[in-house]
Amino acid sequence: MKKYRVGILGATGTVGQRFVQLLEGHPQFEITALAASDRSAGKPYAEACAWKLSGDIPASVKEIVVQPIEPPLDCDIVFSSLPSNVARETEEAFARAGYPVISNSSSYRMDDDVPLLIAEINYDHLGLIETQRQRRGFGKGFIITNPNCAVTAFAPPLAALHRKFGVESAIVTTMQAISGAGYPGVSSMDISDNVLPYIAGEEPKVETEAQKILGDFSNGTITNADFSVSAQCFRVAVIDGHTASVRVNLKNTSTLEDVVDAMQSFPVLDLHSSPEKFIEVLDEPSRPQPRLDRDNGHGMTITVGRVFPDNVFDYRFVSLSHNTVRGAAGSAILNAELLIDKGII
Ligand code: NAP
Repeated sequence: MKKYRVGILGATGTVGQRFVQLLEGHPQFEITALAASDRSAGKPYAEACAWKLSGDIPASVKEIVVQPIEPPLDCDIVFSSLPSNVARETEEAFARAGYPVISNSSSYRMDDDVPLLIAEINYDHLGLIETQRQRRGFGKGFIITNPNCAVTAFAPPLAALHRKFGVESAIVTTMQAISGAGYPGVSSMDISDNVLPYIAGEEPKVETEAQKILGDFSNGTITNADFSVSAQCFRVAVIDGHTASVRVNLKNTSTLEDVVDAMQSFPVLDLHSSPEKFIEVLDEPSRPQPRLDRDNGHGMTITVGRVFPDNVFDYRFVSLSHNTVRGAAGSAILNAELLIDKGII
């Protein structure tokens, strides 16, 4: 199998470290470049990075010298996990220099010529790459994005319902892990013994991204799905794993069995990082829970529970995903595998 050389922008951060961990031993990718801020540039990765994941830093990257976030980098594909304020300019510079850029940042997610991908749901949106290249004069390079990590927690079950019954509206309340804020993130004095009812910039993302993901792609553009989402986002004292409590109104009536079946039977892909089950619905009344379920499917399965008819809406459910795996690095790697599978890289 051909090995592609990959570079990681923001390699020393929370998502960057998860990329390094997940790419270790990957059959299609080999890390050849790591980049981060001026604080890290020029140092070997093991010195620049305050490693926070279990296990040691993979030996293959310890000695790689961290570079500034500028092209050229010695790689074929760029994964970006930069803060959004620096991502916009940097990702464009890499795309313009001919690199496929696979981004976790919010900078380009809602641009109408940039795919916002959950590989299992909307890979047809990859057709936007051609529009993007023509419009921006990118040549060989392009940018594709992953959704916000809280959106990834509920968009898959919502997609399952939207495809079968049509979603009319949804109320989403998220309970988001500390690692979602990056490192060092929220102060321990603020989050211990506490729930924070505000995450800067989060609610507008949760209220809009799913409609783009579930939009129809034709003639080089996306028409967003026409449902509304009302969101409240909370930071909770959990290390990894974003939970979403969802209430949903459907356009067409359905039974509880059909709702569960729509979620469980959502098609999976046959790619290296695809989980066996994209969405797993648990019957136990006390699931999903971040500690028990975030690693389901190696962190790539969305775990759903507490699916019931609701007194005010049609149905309610709770869904959970691993924010740095399915919500960030794992999905970006899956998207890169998809690009190779579709012959785009
Ligand atoms: P983080 O832990 O704060 O890491 C940020 C990374 O970016 C570090 O490698 C840092 O390098 C680098 N960086 C910061 N400022 C820079 C600058 N001015 N120039 C160059 N490099 C700079 O953040 P994170 O949680 O990994 O998040 C990264 C991105 O992914 C953000 O856009 C975030 O919204 C998105 N995201 C995060 C999650 C999550 O669960 N954490 C999930 C989905 C998406 P130094 O170490 O050298 O400072």
